[in-house]
Amino acid sequence: MTGSHKGLGAAIAIALAEAGANVGCHGRDPQPGHACDEIRALGKKTFYLAGDVADPKVCSDLIEKTADEFGSIDILVNNAGIIRRAPAAEHSIAYWNEVIAVDLTAVFRLSQLAGQQMIRRAHGGKIVNIASVLSFQGGVNVPGYAAAKGGVAQLTKALSNEWAAKKINVNAIAPGYMATDNTEALRNDAARSRQILERIPAGRWGEPRDLTGAAVFLCSSASDYVHGHILVIDGGWLAR
Ligand code: NAD
Repeated sequence: MTGSHKGLGAAIAIALAEAGANVGCHGRDPQPGHACDEIRALGKKTFYLAGDVADPKVCSDLIEKTADEFGSIDILVNNAGIIRRAPAAEHSIAYWNEVIAVDLTAVFRLSQLAGQQMIRRAHGGKIVNIASVLSFQGGVNVPGYAAAKGGVAQLTKALSNEWAAKKINVNAIAPGYMATDNTEALRNDAARSRQILERIPAGRWGEPRDLTGAAVFLCSSASDYVHGHILVIDGGWLAR
């Protein structure tokens, strides 16, 4: 479960443990967040591995450690992600490269590594990518992020086409506007925050817990015939 140190990833990691999974936690921060303690308190196995998913070695370490600790890797949730905001005309190539590396290239690399193990074991598996409503919309001041998340949606479909027959379900969750550190700048901008809230039919920002049911569904046998789906959880934002 990448990026499970805090935010949406921590909530999903705990929900998967509540549903019975052993969950390997990961984040960029050197110290584990609260998710590991909560998973242990639920009686499930866990570990924490810190590292930047833009580094290919960190991706392979994550997959290998999960298989070593738990005997196999049955589920991969690609959640680690960043956003960099600047108008397109001033958006630096450094911002662009950083976001594409973390939000898109690492998703492919980790999926490929986990997929190789799942194919070798021939028991199938579940891969869930965290996309965004910006997999469908262009957003404002976030061209790299919109490009990366659009790519995540397409990658989800591409992998599902190849791996569905191998009993590997590759799907995505596309969250709307959720109250985490990722959206702190937006929520602190009174004008943007008001515009966003006015457009959300549910009338509130999403909370991490709003994603957990969908994540458990897509990681469980209940979704065995669901392939290449991008499940939008946005309080109605896209339907507007
Ligand atoms: P967050 O900033 O609260 O947490 C991000 C997590 O990813 C942290 O655990 C962090 O350690 C990890 N991470 C970030 N960069 C990393 C890197 N280079 N290497 C390894 N780990 C890294 O953000 P969040 O809101 O919980 O976002 C989680 C995912 O959901 C992201 O992919 C984000 O794009 C996506 N998302 C968020 C929203 C939202 O409104 N918050 C909406 C749509 C999609």
